[in-house]
Amino acid sequence: MLALSDPLWCKLNTAYGFAKDIPLGIVALAERWDEEAAGDLMHGELIHQETCYGATYAAAPYLLKLAQPDDNVVQRMDIAVFLGHLAVCAFSRPEKGARTNDSLNGLALNLECWEQTRDPYRSKPAQGAGQQMSKSHRDIMDLEPPSDDELRKFEDIRDSFLAVLPDIGSLCERTFHEHSDDEYIPRYLLSGIAAVGKRTELAQLLDSGEDGSFRCAACGTSIDFILFGDLMALYFDNSDGGPAHTQEADRAMLDWQEGEAKRADGMVKAYDDLDEHKEPSLDKLISLARQAENPSLELLLRNFLGEFRCAQCDETCQVCAPYSGPAAP
Ligand SMILES: [Zn+2]
Repeated sequence: MLALSDPLWCKLNTAYGFAKDIPLGIVALAERWDEEAAGDLMHGELIHQETCYGATYAAAPYLLKLAQPDDNVVQRMDIAVFLGHLAVCAFSRPEKGARTNDSLNGLALNLECWEQTRDPYRSKPAQGAGQQMSKSHRDIMDLEPPSDDELRKFEDIRDSFLAVLPDIGSLCERTFHEHSDDEYIPRYLLSGIAAVGKRTELAQLLDSGEDGSFRCAACGTSIDFILFGDLMALYFDNSDGGPAHTQEADRAMLDWQEGEAKRADGMVKAYDDLDEHKEPSLDKLISLARQAENPSLELLLRNFLGEFRCAQCDETCQVCAPYSGPAAP
């Protein structure tokens, strides 16, 4: 892992700039855990609206270490939720122009991608933002681009992160058992476990919760879902984005408000009702979900692993199967 004293931190980006202060933040949290500071660091600077940054991956092994001691129950919960979310986001949006399958969302591995990490600072006018802001922008623009040796360190950061992924999965599982009575925490941890197991679509769905949307794996049409009790109702966007689209959204919204699937286009056939396609590797996830006190986690999981008949293309598809065709309109 990247030493906390390594000057390369200055060339790793975060949501708010570059990471020269991140090592100090990590050291401070190791000395005294402060939930607010930890929240700002993890969910402000290191992941912002599902976007990750270079510093995110360099910081992850340190946060993982902080979560391990038996007494660090509070730290463990905050960090496990964060690292689980990172495992979901890391594989969701690969870096643009990335050449290998091993590249992670937001981690630049070549000069071109690294230069893109300072694009947000390139065009910002100095006026109006105040002296402080323009100085930090100037500092960023004054950074020497990473040398070949430094670029190799970026690859080491990626490799170190990939190496600790199984430990992130174990951490999420341990924390799941410590907080199985919580209403929401187990769902985020299960999402992290699914992500570590390379079930990215399932992990994203678990992350979104009891209502959200996904794409039909066959035709790419957007489908809203809402879990009502043990039934998952589906609302198809078959309007090509025209005025009727609003009506589709309204139908889901009205049902959600009334707590009943009166206007749904269809239902998911949940995993336990399927005649085939059962996978033993999923049993562990289901058995974990069953241990959560909130019963909706298991119902949610069984529906995400289930199938539906698409009203648009008439195919039968798995809810959490990836759509890999061209982007739908
Ligand atoms: Zn379809």
